Amino acid sequence: MAAYCRVSTDHEEQLGSFANQVEYYAELICSHPGYELAGIFSDEGISGTGTKHRPGFQRLIQACEEGKVDLVLTKSISRFARNTQDCLRYARRLQQLGIGIRFEKEGIYTLDASGELLFTILSSLAQEESRNISENTAWGIRSLFARGVPHMNASCLLGYDRGVDGRLVVNRAQAKVVRRVFRDFLEGWSASEIARRLNAAGVPGVRGEARWYPVSITRILRNEKYKGDLLMQKTYTESFLTKKQRRNNGELAQYLVEDAHEPIVSREEWEAAQLELARQEAFRERHRVTQLGSRTAEPLHARVFCACCGARYLRLTGPRARVQWWRCVGASRAARDTAEEGLGGQAAVDASVPAADEPACTAPRVAEDALHAALAAAWNQVVGERAALEPGWREVERTGDVLQRLRARQMRELASHGAADPLRPALVRMVLEELIVHDPCSYEVHFLDGTVRRVQTARYYA
Ligand SMILES: [Zn+2]
Repeated sequence: MAAYCRVSTDHEEQLGSFANQVEYYAELICSHPGYELAGIFSDEGISGTGTKHRPGFQRLIQACEEGKVDLVLTKSISRFARNTQDCLRYARRLQQLGIGIRFEKEGIYTLDASGELLFTILSSLAQEESRNISENTAWGIRSLFARGVPHMNASCLLGYDRGVDGRLVVNRAQAKVVRRVFRDFLEGWSASEIARRLNAAGVPGVRGEARWYPVSITRILRNEKYKGDLLMQKTYTESFLTKKQRRNNGELAQYLVEDAHEPIVSREEWEAAQLELARQEAFRERHRVTQLGSRTAEPLHARVFCACCGARYLRLTGPRARVQWWRCVGASRAARDTAEEGLGGQAAVDASVPAADEPACTAPRVAEDALHAALAAAWNQVVGERAALEPGWREVERTGDVLQRLRARQMRELASHGAADPLRPALVRMVLEELIVHDPCSYEVHFLDGTVRRVQTARYYA
């Protein structure tokens, strides 16, 4: 067991505190029955920035490497090293030797979880240091957390730049893209469709290129920074030897700072997006659909299901065919193969496609026109009954959760525009949860606000 003491200036009062430190550790170690003093290493009144000017420190490291020490006590991180690079380098070297450092003031021990927290913060600060963080702020680790200043790299965060004080400031141009992602998502576009649309429009991402993936969209939707909050310690360095970054699922404390910076979307909109993400996840699980949203931006994609076997209906033919047919993917293997051709292989990865040994569903194929007619009939019923439905929507708008409120308001406003046939794709996207095919003339339409209508249509022949 060793102690390391240092004062950073040669002011007299600090020298006093230095003598106190030495005495304190000598007493602490000697009075503890389990501890055996390997030495007190100290540097007095030395203001050099690097470790090479600190002979006491060098002797400590040497003693550690010679195996004479198994625990180092020191008052604080700032006493141990003068900058993050040094602290990181030596704390890590000692960790590799199996030697822990106990930083008294911070309550951190480098061989347990609190040490991992320290390493995480130190490594991010070390990156920052190339931008010349002043001596005073370099060690304000705890207060960084308390003040809600993120230590992550703002250059990877779409919509924000880092301001002079380290806080996030809105980047107006990028914020527009963030708002668009939230708006499109709540208007029924799936993450993959949003990514495809941004790519097609050449909208630049955070690195200046239009390279969007579904996962970049969901990451934006889930990021709490867009509502003005800051969640600290979302990830941590698992082990400093592997440098593996892990998601923090409660292993370490998380700090949520509300209203840490200017929001880009409202709290309501952000919460609604979380509820919609959860709804979609439950929906995909219930219907065994791996991905929502088609390449052709077809609003009925992954929204039409078979009443007979529960599998989804896929469009069989390409957009230039005279009649576009939809068929239950459980209906036959042949139907699946056709669907694969029609959708460019997209169905191949779909979990809802049954295995070869499952009994085939006998549900017939249906014409796309019939699906559109069924939808229009159900919607126009809702429009016709809107006087009766309106009190219910208004009630939900007052008492529902943010997503229920949003859906009720969308239904009420869209219904007020009157009947339509066929329905605009944008409207279908915003109101339709699923369309269930009972037979080619009988359908059940579930709207996102919970309204359900059963409709009959004329049979369509090719
Ligand atoms: Zn079926």
